[in-house]
Amino acid sequence: MKQEFDELTFQIEHIIPRKHHGSDEIDNLALACFACNNHKGPNLSGLDPKTAEMSRLFHPRRDKWEQHFQWDGARLIGRTPIGRSTVDVLAINLPYRCELRAALIEESVFP
Ligand SMILES: [Zn+2]
Repeated sequence: MKQEFDELTFQIEHIIPRKHHGSDEIDNLALACFACNNHKGPNLSGLDPKTAEMSRLFHPRRDKWEQHFQWDGARLIGRTPIGRSTVDVLAINLPYRCELRAALIEESVFP
């Protein structure tokens, strides 16, 4: 399912995927860009790249973004196992994604 705002296209993603019996209720839905949603797929967890321990992914309705993430220029840094696992599973720092963010920083429109 897609929702469009001007030039930006977001997808409506299930925070807990249907595969894991997540509901279609609004509190289980979030807007996500195609790349994040595509990489997240049906995942609920990932391995923290720092410790190789399993961690659940960031929950955009229950978790505080600032507790788990911080920007380092165009790179998103996970501050906790949840943050690091989410950055890794969603492939948030792939080179093309960082290059796009760097261009937006250059134009002073990000973050
Ligand atoms: Zn995204």
